[in-house]
Amino acid sequence: MKASAFSYARARSVEDALTLLAEHSEKAKVLSGGQSLMPALNLRLVSPDLIVDIGGVDELRGATVRGDTLAIGALTRHADLLRSPEIRLHAPLLSQAAPHIAHPAIRNRGTIGGSLAHADPAAELPACMLALDATMIVRSLAGERRLAASDFFKGIYETALSPEELLVAVELPIRKSAAQYFNEFARRHGDYAIAGVAAQALLGKEVFHDLRIALFAIGDRPVLARSTADLVDKVVTQPLVTDVAAAIADELDPPDDQQASPAMRKQLARVLIARCISTLLDRPDLDARAA
Ligand SMILES: Cc1cc2nc3c(=O)[nH]c(=O)nc-3n(C[C@H](O)[C@H](O)[C@H](O)COP(=O)(O)OP(=O)(O)OC[C@H]3O[C@@H](n4cnc5c(N)ncnc54)[C@H](O)[C@@H]3O)c2cc1C
Repeated sequence: MKASAFSYARARSVEDALTLLAEHSEKAKVLSGGQSLMPALNLRLVSPDLIVDIGGVDELRGATVRGDTLAIGALTRHADLLRSPEIRLHAPLLSQAAPHIAHPAIRNRGTIGGSLAHADPAAELPACMLALDATMIVRSLAGERRLAASDFFKGIYETALSPEELLVAVELPIRKSAAQYFNEFARRHGDYAIAGVAAQALLGKEVFHDLRIALFAIGDRPVLARSTADLVDKVVTQPLVTDVAAAIADELDPPDDQQASPAMRKQLARVLIARCISTLLDRPDLDARAA
């Protein structure tokens, strides 16, 4: 199938893009890497009157350290998450997650802003934003809004963005002593996950002082596991890991689809969480058997 007819405008700046979005509102669609938008256009899942191409807006590209914050521009590509020394140093979770996103050709064009705005519940980067306690920087002609990642994702392909707004960057607090972990289960490497986990921990001697475990592909949006609070500031034993992994799985309400039943997704979540905890604590004895 071919896309329905649309007009095309190449934005020269953020201001230029915002002016076009304000003029055309829900009749316009932003184009970043095109790796989700182009298939959606060709399948006629979306039929905008105007495509606003922000691909040439250089101010939206790249990662910068500002004080104790890492700012990543919306046009930073998945492939850049592997190449950028700032990201590898301060947000290694993103470098661990990137190889799981599709295949090299898609990673060379797809962008972090496009992935977050698209909000596929099985996508890796939205869950990483929850684990890293990211702030999403959103702009319109009316000004800038800063949203916690947990307030940004609203449902399947649904975010807090209005049609006049552009996601311009994400900001991540730099936690120098943090340990980070990423893992997912997919049928084949490069496929969307059937269940996945992204986590960040602040560690003492064999103790979690803070722990953020985000799960994805297990509901209509990525979620932060609440029951991880039971692991903080105490000696972690195998029975405790079993109990907490089960409690986290009970928090979930996974879909029943062609990929997996809710019971299978909950079991995958239990195993992934147990592995996550044992790896973050560097305690192989607390491995998946605990689940
Ligand atoms: C075969 C295939 C396999 C894939 N596998 C995976 C996978 O395993 N994991 C995964 O996470 N993704 C996967 N993807 C999707 C890929 O990661 C996309 O690159 C990503 O979802 C969208 O990024 P993009 O830059 O290409 O955005 P685009 O396709 O250009 O845009 C996507 C949506 O976001 C909106 N948008 C884009 N940028 C902004 C912005 N800055 N502000 C506001 N709105 C914006 C667009 O209007 C559109 O609605 C796959 C894609 C394909 C084709």
